[in-house]
Amino acid sequence: MSTATETIEFQAESRQLLQLMIHSIYSNKDIFLRELISNASDALDKLRLESYQDKNLDVDTSDLHIELVIDKENRTLTVADNGIGMSRDEVVDLIGTIAKSGTADLLAKLKETDPAASQELIGQFGVGFYSSFMVADTVTLVTRKAGDAAGVRWESTGEGSYTIEPVDDAPQGSAVTLHLKAEDAEDSLHDYANPATVRRIVKKYSDFITWPIRMTPEKAPAAEEAPATEEGAAAEEGAEPAEPQPETVNSMKALWARAQRDVTTEEYNEFYRHVSHDWQEPLETIRLAAEGTFEYQALLFLPQVAPMDLYMRDSRRGVQLYVRRVFIMDDCEALVPEYLRFVKGVVDAADLSLNVSREILQQDRQISAIRRRLVKKVLSTVRTMMTEEPEKYTTFWDQFGRAVKEGLLSDHDNQDAILEICSFASTHDAEKPTTLAQYVERMKEGQEHVYYMTGDSRSSIEASPHMEALRDRGYEVLLLVDPIDEVWVDQVPGFDGKELRSIAKGQVDLETEEQKERAGEQREEFAGLLDWMGTALTDDVKEVRLSSRLTTSAACLVNDENDMSPTLEKMYRAMGQEMPTVKRILELNPSHPLVTGLKAKQEASPEDSGLGETAELLYGMALLAEGGELSDPSRFVSLLAGRLERTL
Ligand code: ADP
Repeated sequence: MSTATETIEFQAESRQLLQLMIHSIYSNKDIFLRELISNASDALDKLRLESYQDKNLDVDTSDLHIELVIDKENRTLTVADNGIGMSRDEVVDLIGTIAKSGTADLLAKLKETDPAASQELIGQFGVGFYSSFMVADTVTLVTRKAGDAAGVRWESTGEGSYTIEPVDDAPQGSAVTLHLKAEDAEDSLHDYANPATVRRIVKKYSDFITWPIRMTPEKAPAAEEAPATEEGAAAEEGAEPAEPQPETVNSMKALWARAQRDVTTEEYNEFYRHVSHDWQEPLETIRLAAEGTFEYQALLFLPQVAPMDLYMRDSRRGVQLYVRRVFIMDDCEALVPEYLRFVKGVVDAADLSLNVSREILQQDRQISAIRRRLVKKVLSTVRTMMTEEPEKYTTFWDQFGRAVKEGLLSDHDNQDAILEICSFASTHDAEKPTTLAQYVERMKEGQEHVYYMTGDSRSSIEASPHMEALRDRGYEVLLLVDPIDEVWVDQVPGFDGKELRSIAKGQVDLETEEQKERAGEQREEFAGLLDWMGTALTDDVKEVRLSSRLTTSAACLVNDENDMSPTLEKMYRAMGQEMPTVKRILELNPSHPLVTGLKAKQEASPEDSGLGETAELLYGMALLAEGGELSDPSRFVSLLAGRLERTL
């Protein structure tokens, strides 16, 4: 075996993160220990699972544990485990690089923000192993993968590069040794070479870890210096005190299996940090348990802040599966639907085989039953939050609303429950969003539907001509500006017996009987103009008709009831899909002077070449008014310039 020591550069992103750690942007340095213990605990979980699944793996799993060793003289702290360990390539991959999606984004954001805010960002991201560089100037990792004959030794000061070399006699598992910074020595509360400090931190952050975390107490001082106790006095003069035995520091109680009243909020919060790798407290803790045929316990959390990668394609789900306290897998997608991928926590099911695979889980009846309950519980928790803790709900919705709305498309069984917890911007209030229930409560006498319009932004929707008649009647309109809104509105028929109606689609039914009669007459009066214009604009629109939604604008464009909205069309194109252009309907305001003038002119001199241009201009204006884009802006501009010249 080669004994050469290699020096390898950290990946660029790692280097930047390490710099942040070395210059310690995070005020609570204690958490480095939680991160290392968390990694060790994961490594033990993995080894136990692997030994169940791979009967040929020849390792002793009878005493899996974590050990903390302090060397006061040399000021080192070692966190050792006899878990799965890492091969050389794994060390290079896992410790030398950061594979997390969102790293580049995070680093870009960190550059822009002030140090205080960057703490929060980095906390959201979670830095794991690298946090050791907050307290150590050199970190050594000796590891041997279960089943491998030899191990490796990795060492770094966190400055640019690390060394890696083979070691023949490494014990199986991993040992991370921190050469502690001298500056922390003066502060006994944060002196990590002080056993009392280390114990306190373990109790605080890692008590629930289901593996024993052991520490060997310091050797008692020699007998003559020891305070005399009865036994001490009786002991033989000059006898060596017994070798101290390792003690387990943590209580190892699985939090989810304990009665809620026996667990403090602080314990729940620490457990959340352990499962989520978040440094903050959870927004909400959710407990559920079932006994009987399908016995399980679940402890779930809603985070305060959405992870960076929530909307990225490879975003993972955050619920771990245990079977009778034995860790089975992370990111168990069978337990939570994709739209609730931000929910973190643990489900411990009693009656599953320890050998379950992801594929089997997808079909498992027990898992589907748990999943159904879990979804309902999360949705009902948010609903309670809406009434009882509206501020919390607002945070939740700001962070996760977009993801939740995906459920309107994918989870038909819970569509109503999801609608109930949705909030939308509305014309009712410039700042505060509204729920559908609140909208319905405010509906005007005679108003039958819930009106909405989708678009790019609040301001473009509010300025759009489609709003005119509704504004006139004092009807509230929901302003749906998330791209996902374009998609779900077509799939959701209504709320509370009220239909959801787009004000930019189909016919609006806002007229009184009298107005309807008048509209019938007008249709006859304008028939000639509408026919002619329909032909003149045949390349752009499928129909020209009179409008009842306009009061001040001359024209607007609307979609046919079942046609795709222009924004949705644009979205599909942006995703690279071929889309035929959907022709829309041009609606004219029969009371507008431009329309009545055009009608008179068309009747008097139908051959006039300027008529076609006016029709084109009207169409272009309608498109611009709703924030749309002209297909040939230069033609529009030259037509307009020609008209303006003539009026000078
Ligand atoms: P995270 O734990 O968030 O994935 P870390 O930087 O802490 O990030 O660790 C990176 C990876 O290195 C872990 O996911 C794990 O695969 C591996 N690792 C870290 N510590 C250990 C350990 N004690 N034993 C085995 N593997 C480990």
